[in-house]
Amino acid sequence: MARPLMDTYSPPDIDFERGEGAYLHARGGARYLDFISGIAVNGLGHCHPAAVKALQDQAGKLWHTSNMFRAPGQIELAEKYCRDSFADRVFFTNSGTEAVECALKTARHYHFAQGRPDRYRVITFTGAFHGRTFGAINAGGNPAYLEGFGPRMEGFDQVAFGDHEALKSAITEETAAIIVEPVQGEGGVRAIPDVCLRGLRELCDEHGLLLIYDEVQCGAGRTGKLWAHEWSGAAPDIMAVAKGVGGGFPMGACLTTEAAGAHMKIGTHGSTFGGNPLAMAVGHAVYDALTAPGFLDHVTDIANTLRQQLSGLVDAHADKVAELRGRGLLIGLKLKDGYVNKTLAAHARAQHLLMGAAGDNVARLAPPLIIDETHVREAVAALDAALGALEPQ
Ligand SMILES: *Cc1c(COP(=O)(O)O)cnc(C)c1O
Repeated sequence: MARPLMDTYSPPDIDFERGEGAYLHARGGARYLDFISGIAVNGLGHCHPAAVKALQDQAGKLWHTSNMFRAPGQIELAEKYCRDSFADRVFFTNSGTEAVECALKTARHYHFAQGRPDRYRVITFTGAFHGRTFGAINAGGNPAYLEGFGPRMEGFDQVAFGDHEALKSAITEETAAIIVEPVQGEGGVRAIPDVCLRGLRELCDEHGLLLIYDEVQCGAGRTGKLWAHEWSGAAPDIMAVAKGVGGGFPMGACLTTEAAGAHMKIGTHGSTFGGNPLAMAVGHAVYDALTAPGFLDHVTDIANTLRQQLSGLVDAHADKVAELRGRGLLIGLKLKDGYVNKTLAAHARAQHLLMGAAGDNVARLAPPLIIDETHVREAVAALDAALGALEPQ
């Protein structure tokens, strides 16, 4: 058989045709409970009526003009993002990795604009994931993603996750910024303790560094706050968001304070599609749903229910599961040596539960934020059966 696609992915042999709420329907009629939601993307579930309507209405009006012209909805969505966060300025992108690129460029350009072009280095952490463009793989520092793609890009200094002394000694006169995911996603669903985020904020203030949060995965309500860092009270200077903010429509954004972003003048950055009318229409619908009264309280409540039941599972399968990780509805089950996260996901699929895998042998759950107790019970029963079937490898 011809293989027209690059072999970069290895999807299972299922063809999904339709999604509705927390469920995906495959050709042939099988129904799956979706507890990975497009990798923390479909926060409102599949085909949320408000998002569908927003997209359909906009599709009949205007698709694209490029940023040569004002895109309908862009200023208004940026205003909403700023109204409810630390930010004063927004740049819209199509993806997470582009939001990260914008964040890194903005951080370097900030020091350039201050007459300090020599301050360009960015401190990153082991286990980080920031996307797959050249800048982002170099920031992420994962050797598996860098191998075969030429020399390492200059200007990134990676320190071990949680090693405070290494972090302090990595800061030099050339350091521009620190980039961190408040909850590491791909790296193994590891939440940074609130006190550590506050420590990073203090360190950045002390040394004149910009603090960049990558909330591409943990943001958009997933932890029960609109942005994950809100739990800590430590605001960034720059933040990259994507995944959940579009609810399944490709979009992202780079948010900055006035001080960290006002120097990005005409010509310093750009995108043909970023912030286009279709993305903005869906972006408004998703944002309005996430910020509707009670929505985030629901996320916290249902996350507590799910986590409680999962810790019961961890105890019941203590020979196979080492710990429960993450925050809110970004959840990791770290498996013990000898058991493989991807095999667990395959067993879960056989139980018609969809889940993912992350680094560090962690099985990942990122259900839609709209799940209720019925979904929780169904997922926990399926996962219980999947763990029961899991054999050492
Ligand atoms: C997924 C992800 C990215 C990359 O987003 P894309 O939309 O795939 O480019 C960047 N950072 C984090 C934390 C992510 O989880």
